[in-house]
Amino acid sequence: MSDDLFTENQALRQKLESLMAQARLNEQVMRRFQDAELRMLSVGSFKELLQFVLNEMKEAFDLDVVTLAIIDQEYEIRRMLTNIDISANEFPGLICLDNPSKLLRICGNSLAPVLGQYNADSRTRLFPRATPPASIAILPMMRQRRLIGSLNLGSRDEGRFEPGMATDFIGRLAAIVCICLENLTNSERLKHLGLTDPLTGVHNRRYFDQRLQEEVSRAQRQSFPLSCLFLDVDHFKHVNDQYGHQTGDCVLREVAWRIKGQLRSADVVGRYGGEEFAILLGQTDMDSARVIAERIRQSIATQQFKGEGDEMLSVTISVGVATLPDGNRSQSVEALAQNLVARSDQALYRAKQGGRNCVASDV
Ligand code: GH3
Ligand code: MG
Ligand code: MG
Repeated sequence: MSDDLFTENQALRQKLESLMAQARLNEQVMRRFQDAELRMLSVGSFKELLQFVLNEMKEAFDLDVVTLAIIDQEYEIRRMLTNIDISANEFPGLICLDNPSKLLRICGNSLAPVLGQYNADSRTRLFPRATPPASIAILPMMRQRRLIGSLNLGSRDEGRFEPGMATDFIGRLAAIVCICLENLTNSERLKHLGLTDPLTGVHNRRYFDQRLQEEVSRAQRQSFPLSCLFLDVDHFKHVNDQYGHQTGDCVLREVAWRIKGQLRSADVVGRYGGEEFAILLGQTDMDSARVIAERIRQSIATQQFKGEGDEMLSVTISVGVATLPDGNRSQSVEALAQNLVARSDQALYRAKQGGRNCVASDV
């Protein structure tokens, strides 16, 4: 009798120990998830979020591959990545899908997580790597009942993800990735709107002024020349008076496009005021800046503009050029920036005085 009790007691003890070990393990897992969630909620930029989800999370959860698929029908995310200087190959694990059909096919109508063996037929797109994982978890990300993408986890261990496994933790993780993504996309969108001119799509004066300080400071540090162009449409009031405001708007949009067409991607262009644009050309001395200014002037003067209706009209611009000579360290960045803008504006004034449709430079 006492032997029986002893054996039963031993068995219960063992069971209790194994339960305790399991509970400790669960606690560790829960803490790991909590840490990841808190980390994600605290990231400050889109890039930081991608770094965490696509690189660090792999280590933290001992996974072989983590990818993030985002449905980007309007190419908005891809444009945003370019705007914030994230190149296409910086994060190979980020997959932008042109439409939701592929993901819907994989996840089915219920949009429940998909766990199990890797299946080359339908899943290659979500795990674009030379060696595919053995088992995977595809976690659909939903916002306001809309599928926005999926968080995809892969392991070399066949048993890591199996159908029917509980998905509470990873499902929650995907939901948090999704909220962070939405939040950071919205804040980038707002930032972009605040720095873009809605009519022409080029940057606005606020952005130009910010970049002016940065570029002057960089030019000073690295000792290279920085040039500034001020452009103003000639007799623009007359365009509005004769053809109407709508045509005036069309002309401004087209002027902005033609200016952009003559610049390098690193150059800064901003709509400075009504029909006035300002441009910063890094590593460009006065001679080269004059050549670029002349090219822009010609691109506008030599080809007619189409108005709101069928009307065609000729437009010209005047340009003022000034250069910040390299190695000027005697003045503050603010003073140099102000001075550069003032001198380009004065040169523009001289171009107007000189008969318009011409380039004048600071003397
Ligand atoms: P100048 O050759 O001396 O520069 O003559 P101008 O007529 O271009 O100069 P002025 O500054 O007298 O006129 C600028 C006009 O630009 C007046 C303003 O109504 C118009 N304008 C400013 N912003 C916009 C806009 O967003 N759309 C349109 N259509 N017109 C605008
Ligand atoms: Mg004008
Ligand atoms: Mg003007």
